Amino acid sequence: DDAGVPGRVRVAVRLRPRNAEELAADADFADCVEIQPELKRLKLRKNNWDSDTYEFDEVLTEFASQKRVYEVVAKPVVESVLDGYNGTVMAYGQTGTGKTYTLVRLGEEDTAARGIMVRAMEDILADVSLETDSISVSYLQLYMETIQDLLDPANDNISIVEDPKSGDVSLPGATLVEIRDQQSFVELLRLGEVHRYAANTKLNTESSRSHAILMVHVKRSIKGRDSALSSEIGNNSHMVKTLKPSIVRRGKLVVVDLAGSERIDKSGSEGHTLEEAKSINLSLSALGKCINSLAENSAHVPFRDSKLTRLLRDSFGGTARTSLVITIGPSPRHRGETASTIMFGQRAM
Ligand code: ADP
Ligand code: MG
Repeated sequence: DDAGVPGRVRVAVRLRPRNAEELAADADFADCVEIQPELKRLKLRKNNWDSDTYEFDEVLTEFASQKRVYEVVAKPVVESVLDGYNGTVMAYGQTGTGKTYTLVRLGEEDTAARGIMVRAMEDILADVSLETDSISVSYLQLYMETIQDLLDPANDNISIVEDPKSGDVSLPGATLVEIRDQQSFVELLRLGEVHRYAANTKLNTESSRSHAILMVHVKRSIKGRDSALSSEIGNNSHMVKTLKPSIVRRGKLVVVDLAGSERIDKSGSEGHTLEEAKSINLSLSALGKCINSLAENSAHVPFRDSKLTRLLRDSFGGTARTSLVITIGPSPRHRGETASTIMFGQRAM
């Protein structure tokens, strides 16, 4: 098992349960997918007697708990961030299949429902020591190749800066909030949600048309005997000259709730402008190309093709851990979209 091996994208598939409408409307139909958890396989029905079979790193049935999904999809990435590496966790799938449920759910009324962002911060807070270490976060929305600050709505055109030497990506214009406890982080996520809704109302679009991006920076100071050893692990370690040698180790976790993967009607008949359709297809297809080049071990990964991939450049491939969860629904009505989501996940492996 090469769970969390750097440079390779780890792909899990998660099936959400039928909702009330699907239970009623499709009561006479079988689900279009069947999951075989022991075999890590998913079967996609072609017709009544035939289906295609796909293998994934992990398959999560409609009964998988949020805790299990976190452990499978995100925990190895969070652990490597705590060790000083960068990492990315992304959810890809058709609108309504559970991307936001998987990543962003706050679960304040029901702690079992907490999603990946909240659980990741809990693990990070439990591991660091706030006397010597620091955690800071930015929360952004990327819509039509424009980055908006979800923590400060007035800040609606943030630029990406890449350090030509180190390859580090930074967003000097983005609000960076220091986190000292879980409650303030959850409040921040809630604030981001409110701002996201307001921004999308103003732009007359839906949140499913934009990417939401959480960046968590973990900076740790390691003193004493460990230092010499630690300077060799962790790609972001920097020696700091003090009397007692100490090391600053930096890791960055990026969590991306991607825009809905459904094909957008370019005629605009569903209320989308041609520009919007092109732009969403641009970032998702650029992401697909980068994932494919990583899977093929290609020397050239076309990060420059979109803002989304430029932003992920230092947290994706290379020494970074990358985890992708593709979300699907069971309804035979969406079989076409489900098939294309499955193919996106397959090409990443
Ligand atoms: P997306 O972000 O992909 O558009 P959502 O996360 O908003 O999808 O999910 C769509 C609906 O399905 C929501 O009402 C959500 O609560 C529900 N849902 C998604 N995944 C699950 C799940 N695993 N279990 C129960 N309900 C789910
Ligand atoms: Mg969503």
